[in-house]
Amino acid sequence: MTQIIVLGATGSVGETAFRVLQHDKDRISVDGLVAHHNFDRLWEMGITLHARWIGLTDPQAWKNQKGGESGTPRVVVGLDAILEEIAKSPAEKVLGAMTGFAGLRPTLTALRHGKDILLANKETLVAAGDLVRKMATDSGSRIIPVDSEHSAIFQCLALNQPPRRIFLTCSGGPFRGRRKEDLAFVSVEEALNHPNWRMGAKITIDTATLVNKGLEIIEAHYLFGVPYEQIEVVIHPQSIVHSLVEFVDGATMAQLGWPDMAVPVQVALSWPERWSLPQKPLDLTTQTLSFEPPDIETFEGLEIAREAGVKGGLYPAVLNAANETAVSLFLSHHIGFLSITRIIKDVLEEFQDNRVPTTPEEIMDTDQWARNHALEVAHHYQS
Ligand code: MG
Repeated sequence: MTQIIVLGATGSVGETAFRVLQHDKDRISVDGLVAHHNFDRLWEMGITLHARWIGLTDPQAWKNQKGGESGTPRVVVGLDAILEEIAKSPAEKVLGAMTGFAGLRPTLTALRHGKDILLANKETLVAAGDLVRKMATDSGSRIIPVDSEHSAIFQCLALNQPPRRIFLTCSGGPFRGRRKEDLAFVSVEEALNHPNWRMGAKITIDTATLVNKGLEIIEAHYLFGVPYEQIEVVIHPQSIVHSLVEFVDGATMAQLGWPDMAVPVQVALSWPERWSLPQKPLDLTTQTLSFEPPDIETFEGLEIAREAGVKGGLYPAVLNAANETAVSLFLSHHIGFLSITRIIKDVLEEFQDNRVPTTPEEIMDTDQWARNHALEVAHHYQS
């Protein structure tokens, strides 16, 4: 039976994976589950899924002295201990479902030890795309996308026919149709109110600025090796068409389904097989599907992110770090909504370094520089 480790087990994708893994318990067994600090939920999941161990990256979060009694998972505390556990684990697959740059080290550890990565943590691929790809090639690991758009593209590309263009669909987020001047004073609550998807706070803000789609352009470039000029974005407010691939003859394939991460998670687990899933079937007779171009004047973050991707090297890492910092400042009410994109733009303009990183340290140093710089820049934009 295939064994798996889930990183980011208590987050939104992690909760979906929990449902899917319960359903697939005769095919997949859980070796380890890792979360940042939600011990109680992690413990409960560990018991239910019969995990051998559970890991908490935040040592402060382990208040209980539970763990290790017969029938219960062993508790591993702290990132370094978790990395060791991943390295020696017999699991063949690792689901990377944590949020942000924090996913880099565990992902690289899993790749170094030849494990397949089921990747929902797009920030790792954005910040370290060249390095992640090289490590996967060297160790023979596969990277299977879990992000819904990239899962759709992955499924459309199953026959290995080269794409002419990739179309990433985008719901447009909670502020679709608004002009820039309408967005100066939107609240955190409004920005967190996504029309179609229930997700964590960070990605939900990214979908409101459309930076998420910019990160996904870079993610698609690294996952599928497609040049940036062949990756397009189309607004599709219903989130039923998860993305499309156009081939050289003009034929275009899409993958459709309800906005629910269960399919992308299970496809990544079962690939190249498909397993049943208790889902309400898609009924297109009750749906109107519409498509429109993105408003890149209002949502500047989309093109700023694309430009960082085109520049390559360390620029995507700077983009990612500036964005993570700005989003957390917005969520804690220190800056207004439009300042998120301004901060990213300022930090990227300040950055002048055309190296192509070959070590994780170079990327981590750049990430730290960009975070510090974003905090300095943010002083000018405090609300
Ligand atoms: Mg997505």
